[in-house]
Amino acid sequence: MSNCTFLTRHGTPRAVAAARDFSDPKDRGMAYECSLCGLCAAVCPEGLDPCALFLEVRRHDVASGTFDARPYRSILNYETLGRSRLFSRYELPEGCDTVFFPGCALPGTRPTVTSRLYRQLRQHVPSLGIVLTCCAKPSHDLGRTVHFRTAFERVLARFAAGGVKTVLTACPNCTRMFRQYGRGLSVLTVYEILNRHGVTETVAPGGGEISVHDPCPLRDHPEAHSAVRGLLTDLGYTQVEMPHRKKTTLCCGEGGAVGCIQPRNSRGWAELRRQESEGRPLVTYCAGCVHFLGQVTPTVHILDLIFRANGTPDKDFPVSKGPLTYLNRLLLKLRLMAMSVSGE
Ligand code: SF4
Ligand code: SF4
Repeated sequence: MSNCTFLTRHGTPRAVAAARDFSDPKDRGMAYECSLCGLCAAVCPEGLDPCALFLEVRRHDVASGTFDARPYRSILNYETLGRSRLFSRYELPEGCDTVFFPGCALPGTRPTVTSRLYRQLRQHVPSLGIVLTCCAKPSHDLGRTVHFRTAFERVLARFAAGGVKTVLTACPNCTRMFRQYGRGLSVLTVYEILNRHGVTETVAPGGGEISVHDPCPLRDHPEAHSAVRGLLTDLGYTQVEMPHRKKTTLCCGEGGAVGCIQPRNSRGWAELRRQESEGRPLVTYCAGCVHFLGQVTPTVHILDLIFRANGTPDKDFPVSKGPLTYLNRLLLKLRLMAMSVSGE
């Protein structure tokens, strides 16, 4: 229980299920305090899954019209803009059956890293396409099933029309959505591709001790865990594993949009991660995790270590924030359009 700020506050999953009446609006509010990280289900010998229960409560609130969207305005606007025509782009070159789907956070905070990564991936998959849009995970997690399905089906329809069979993801949330709802699409993370084929960009050699924070949406993706560790070994880092890792990793604090209503709880999860790292810098593979964990302990994205010169894990890699992230995404879209016209 001490590994989850929600359970520390409310008791075990069994106690929560037994003592609460989820038809009572007072108790239903609890469903929005869980980060939906999935750790309970991963470790429970009795197969209890509070995540599924809380997601169902959220879905019911939306369906019955009792969901209060006001605290989530900012994240929902982020999603709506991310999948708008202004920010979306499907670059599917001739013969393309595989696309790179960087998500929203990486292009917004690290547009140059995103471009370099795309260039690198194209060395391994020459007819690789790229798709800029949002996977709508925020709507999914808030129980807005119709919004999520509509948005996600639109992406799948474009993929089907363009002959796309494989999607390469950088964002753990997008990865999770494509694996869960992708209807047979093959889904690989970019970390698996980089680990399998190597990185030809000039990479500054690393060194010293670090710990890997596995993002919770990928707790059931051992291929990504191994790939990231393989890349870090090649970069020269000594990895010291934290007690909670891979399948039993802890939430960074970003999940389930908890931060919109309980920022202190959210920070509590990040604090647990800081304690387990015992002063070592954290390396992770999710822009959201870097943002959250970086508030309490030095944390770096593995793609910064690979694609930004002279990187070290305890260095503060500046990333774009706020409105600038939207500008970055527009500029990246324009750059991609120019590349496609010039055949670059
Ligand atoms: S935050 Fe994770 S560990 Fe805590 S109750 Fe929710 S699913 Fe379980
Ligand atoms: S899940 Fe991925 S694509 Fe969706 S909002 Fe988050 S970062 Fe963006």
